[in-house]
Amino acid sequence: MAEKRNEKGQILYLVIPCYNEQEVLPETSKRLLQKMESLMERGMISRESRIMFVNDGSKDRTWEMIEELHGQNSIYQGVKLSRNRGHQNALLGGLMTAKESADMVISLDADLQDDIDVIDQFVEKYYEGCEIVYGVRSARDTDTFFKKFTAEGFYKLIALMGGEVVFNHADYRLMSRRALEEMENYREVNLFLRGIVPMIGFKTDVVFYERHERLAGESKYPLKKMLALAVDGITSLSIKPIRFIVFLGMFIFVCSILMLIYSLVQHFLGNTSIGWTSLIVSIWAIGGLQLLAIGVIGEYIGKIYLETKARPKYIIEKVLR
Ligand code: UDP
Ligand code: MG
Repeated sequence: MAEKRNEKGQILYLVIPCYNEQEVLPETSKRLLQKMESLMERGMISRESRIMFVNDGSKDRTWEMIEELHGQNSIYQGVKLSRNRGHQNALLGGLMTAKESADMVISLDADLQDDIDVIDQFVEKYYEGCEIVYGVRSARDTDTFFKKFTAEGFYKLIALMGGEVVFNHADYRLMSRRALEEMENYREVNLFLRGIVPMIGFKTDVVFYERHERLAGESKYPLKKMLALAVDGITSLSIKPIRFIVFLGMFIFVCSILMLIYSLVQHFLGNTSIGWTSLIVSIWAIGGLQLLAIGVIGEYIGKIYLETKARPKYIIEKVLR
């Protein structure tokens, strides 16, 4: 595979998770078809390239529309999940299905908020040897203040909590088949794609784009789902929150020693009523010790947690013999 890596005309799959997207599908499918045809005409991608819609248990006509599209033109493919499993799982299902036949896969949202004209750049970077290309939003002018604030806070919080994520990159990215095969070895159930993909490594690059407004319909990512995603992201990537507890326990324990000194001084100066000194010292000492103990147990649970994920310890890119 490596030899023909720079040869143009390889197979590209677009993977698009769809949840109740009947309002946008007609327009989305039309625009994506134009894009694919123009790439094919220029010889950038193979004629075997496909547009794959993943129906994430929609309750509207989304799946019927995908079936109709597939009937009209075999460039459209459909994958139907048995029920709603959420964006991340739908995306993963699509990526793993597409991997069977594609040389490279680009994931994008059904509402085309992500500028599809940068697909050309994604593909070019692939031919330059990148295994992963991240789409990064250069501006958020079309987002409301609230969306911008919460979304950017989301990336900062995850980074603070020890997750390695690409700032302002959602799930608009290109992955080569090789990168997808390596990602398959991350067998964890709580898979947070934005955190796992950077762990894979290889030659990567970013492409900047402006984010548009939704074509039609409304966001399938209300604040509640975004918060859930943030919590999942943090807890599936790192055990830093546990370490915070350990440090807090240590800090309070140190405070308890200071309190001991302070209380004893007060006691001998006679500024205290009977029983206050022993009481205040025990409260601080026991509180600190308890937090510390929870933290230590947490450290071990964290280790077990990471063991159960059985992540690959390394990925070999090349061997020279
Ligand atoms: N989506 C999905 N399952 C869900 C929720 C959303 O597959 O449970 C898809 C949705 O159809 C869209 C993408 O995830 O293609 C992103 O959703 P949306 O555009 O509503 O999110 P936003 O851009 O507002 O963050
Ligand atoms: Mg959207």
